[in-house]
Amino acid sequence: MLHTQDLLKAASSHTTTQQTTARQNEFTPRFSITLLEGAKVRKLFSLQLTTHLLLFVLLGAFFLVTIGPTRSQTSQYEFNDSHFHLTNNIQEGPDIHDFIKMMGDHAGRVAISGVPLQQEWSYQVDGDLAPTYYLHSDAPLYYYSFVDAWIAMEYKSLPRDQQARFDPMITGFNPSDMYAADHIRRVLRTFPGVFTGIGEFTIHKEFVSAKIPGEVASLQNPALDRILDLAGEVGLVVLIHNDIDIPFAKDIAKDRSQPAYLNEMRSLLKRHPNTTIIWAHTGLGRTVAPTQNHLAIIEAILRDPNFRHVCVDISWDEVAKYVIANPEATRQWAELMQHYPDRFLFGSDGAAPADQSKYLKVFREYEPLWKSLDPETSRKVRLQNYERIFDEARRRVRSWESGHISANSD
Ligand SMILES: [Zn+2]
Repeated sequence: MLHTQDLLKAASSHTTTQQTTARQNEFTPRFSITLLEGAKVRKLFSLQLTTHLLLFVLLGAFFLVTIGPTRSQTSQYEFNDSHFHLTNNIQEGPDIHDFIKMMGDHAGRVAISGVPLQQEWSYQVDGDLAPTYYLHSDAPLYYYSFVDAWIAMEYKSLPRDQQARFDPMITGFNPSDMYAADHIRRVLRTFPGVFTGIGEFTIHKEFVSAKIPGEVASLQNPALDRILDLAGEVGLVVLIHNDIDIPFAKDIAKDRSQPAYLNEMRSLLKRHPNTTIIWAHTGLGRTVAPTQNHLAIIEAILRDPNFRHVCVDISWDEVAKYVIANPEATRQWAELMQHYPDRFLFGSDGAAPADQSKYLKVFREYEPLWKSLDPETSRKVRLQNYERIFDEARRRVRSWESGHISANSD
């Protein structure tokens, strides 16, 4: 297991080695002039050889640590969490220091965001009954951009080795606003070195979309294309929630082979081949149950080379309920995952959990699935796919930042 501390230690030994080499080079000519006797020269060469050998070994160790397979970095944990909200709909939640205790030795790394949509407390509507969840009030939701600053400051309050366990995500933008991409750019400028991705943000979601005043978010809005273009340019991972279908669709027709938003979603994904996109919940939700051909729909996307940049997550207890509904359902999901082991990520979709057992609930619910998967697929879905995708995003975003943000903007 390689922690940041190890990396820092290796980095500092690398620096020390470089300094030693510089000093050695400085001193070498002086030695060469004064020590002319054969034995002494041989001693000098052997000293230099030893130093160079040492340097070589140390450099080798450094590159092994930094470039070597990061996939081993969290292997002692049960899972990495690609989908987590530190706050709820009223921007409350645990302190990040308390949350890291909940992660304990269960969750290695977590993609952490707030919730972009704030539930308004309308006294006209709810009186003294202050709502904490979007379904608890008829009052509207609104985009709360300060959430990104909040998440960044929480992250920055951690020591470096604990920061390494988080991938903060930008969420506080309105995806139907052509200026949304500018918000994302501004957040990166204000908090360089912090964010790895954007999301979870929502386009179509039962009850939520209709509760937001103003223009309804749409998969066809050029504002969304601007967001995904920017994410592709910067290297930000995109975690997008878009229900594949309208709520309660199965009540209209038993098997809807063509869910309402599938074609638009496919077109959107296809328009952004250079952006790493995670489709949250495989498009399912509380009231969006899988159709009989849901797994075939997902399989068609994973099989198509046009969607090589697309992964799906199985976060949310509302999704787990379908996957573990019965042994046959679990078997079918496991089979699909084993065909495409690199394309599925576990996420909790936890939102402001009050304690560890609440945080671990979704992971534990998936126990039948973990038992059904072969060990390699299980490891990829729980740990390694996260590391591959988020490590690459971290590297690309830091590189973009170093080219686009002036040093004095921090
Ligand atoms: Zn979601």
